[in-house]
Amino acid sequence: MICKFCNSLIPDGAMFCPSCGKRLDGKTPCPECGAMNEENAMFCIFCGARMDGKKVCGACGALYEGHFCPECGASASQETPSAVNVANSATPPRSRACI
Ligand SMILES: [Zn+2]
Ligand SMILES: [Zn+2]
Ligand SMILES: [Zn+2]
Repeated sequence: MICKFCNSLIPDGAMFCPSCGKRLDGKTPCPECGAMNEENAMFCIFCGARMDGKKVCGACGALYEGHFCPECGASASQETPSAVNVANSATPPRSRACI
């Protein structure tokens, strides 16, 4: 069969093109949750994330990639590391495994 993206000759039944790496069933995985969406989808139908991998700043509404908004400096994550540490300290220490 022929890859519809790069026109390379590829084995029948292949899921990915060995030349361009694109999925051949026309679907694309969500960058956030990995669920399969239609190729031209703008938003994931499962988690609502943008399919282009960009995030919308909750503070100023700017589109950006990465962990911080370049417009206002807001963090992509609302979780604070200290809250995670408090939760972890409540769990008992793991027993040491014999090697
Ligand atoms: Zn290809
Ligand atoms: Zn998703
Ligand atoms: Zn912002």
